[in-house]
Amino acid sequence: MLRSIKGVKDLLPSQTPSWHHMEATARSWAGRYGFSEIRIPIFELTELFSRSIGGATDIVEKEMYTFPDRDGSSLTLRPEGTAGVVRAVLEHRLLDSITTRKLFYFGPMFRHERPQAGRYRQFHQFGVEAFGIEDPNIDIEIISLLWNYFLDLELKDLTLHLNSIGTQQDRERYIQELKKFLSPNISSFCGNCQRRFTANPLRILDCKVPFCVEATHQAPSIIDLLSNDSGAHFQKILTGLKDLNIPFTINPRLVRGLDYYSRTTFEITSPHLGSQSTIGAGGRYDSLVELLQGPPTPAVGFAVGLERVSLLLPEESYPPATPCVFLAGFGTQGKPEAFKLLHTLRKNGITAETDHRATNLKALLRSADKLSAKYSIIVGDDEIQSGIVILRNMETKEQQSIPLKDLSEKIMILFQ
Ligand code: ATP
Ligand code: MG
Repeated sequence: MLRSIKGVKDLLPSQTPSWHHMEATARSWAGRYGFSEIRIPIFELTELFSRSIGGATDIVEKEMYTFPDRDGSSLTLRPEGTAGVVRAVLEHRLLDSITTRKLFYFGPMFRHERPQAGRYRQFHQFGVEAFGIEDPNIDIEIISLLWNYFLDLELKDLTLHLNSIGTQQDRERYIQELKKFLSPNISSFCGNCQRRFTANPLRILDCKVPFCVEATHQAPSIIDLLSNDSGAHFQKILTGLKDLNIPFTINPRLVRGLDYYSRTTFEITSPHLGSQSTIGAGGRYDSLVELLQGPPTPAVGFAVGLERVSLLLPEESYPPATPCVFLAGFGTQGKPEAFKLLHTLRKNGITAETDHRATNLKALLRSADKLSAKYSIIVGDDEIQSGIVILRNMETKEQQSIPLKDLSEKIMILFQ
């Protein structure tokens, strides 16, 4: 038997209702905050990702699914959504209109990682992006949208981590300080960090290797070295979140894994997920649009890992499946009449089912129970002769006789 590939999961019928719930709740919150949905392709030119995410990042160095197209161009399955959204926004000139500047997306992302609980090679994100607004109020809105979304899903014990990594100039100053701090000890760091020391030293703060985490505990804090402008931007966000009663902790180590961030960075973590604890993360990326040859355009957004959220959803936190009516038709006349009724009910908006494999009433009613049908309609040859069918309440087992011609109307009333 062929099996699915490593790190890629099927979503089974028992799981899809909770996914619908996560998605519907996300749409509802994104809509309330004035975001419109965009759907972008799953694959793009490799260059889009290597240029925007940054060459010295985990994603570009080792996680992308890249392959040559038949014409020789290099394509990549998207590892994240932001780069594609920026590409689309520029291609379709969406930045010019207030109605298309705030966008959200859903969809699968692909990263060649070591699969484990909460970490897959195909996973799904819900993300939002707001373009063209420098005002810190948009950072606050984006963070509060994420926070409210998780609260609405009834996720417990969440922590919002916040940081500012300043502007490019702030970072250059900070990196000098950081390198001064790291250099005496750098040969004891992991191989990755030793490479990062020259390629991208900030990323050392994001390393998960215990030695590197420990050895950077006393590292200088970037927040202490922010310019006045960046510092004031960050302070306004802190005050705004306090005003909205959104609790946070400042985490000067939070540098994020992608190169395009500037100023605000944030993550929301849960203690109930083991080491894959981040369920949503984002920040400001004021230089990305320009990097992709657009006009200078500040931007801020987040992405949520839906598999990780699904692991935290309380049981039964989503509505049960729509109740259904079961058509129990048997006999040479009863069966075709029940089949017609099935179609009439469905056309009238009722969820109706039958079992084509069951041939007698007993088997039909057993199937109705298995499907948790609310009512069954019993239609045998006798019922066709008399023009009166039986409506059975599957819970109370109560039965009533209903003239065939009134049946649709009666069912509609029961299901209103
Ligand atoms: P991590 O530190 O866990 O690797 P990341 O910084 O690479 O996360 P982002 O690129 O910020 O993650 O993606 C946003 C969110 O998408 C993460 O917070 C996480 O919830 C989810 N996510 C990222 N990679 C995976 C994966 N391989 N499998 C499942 N979810 C993922
Ligand atoms: Mg990662």
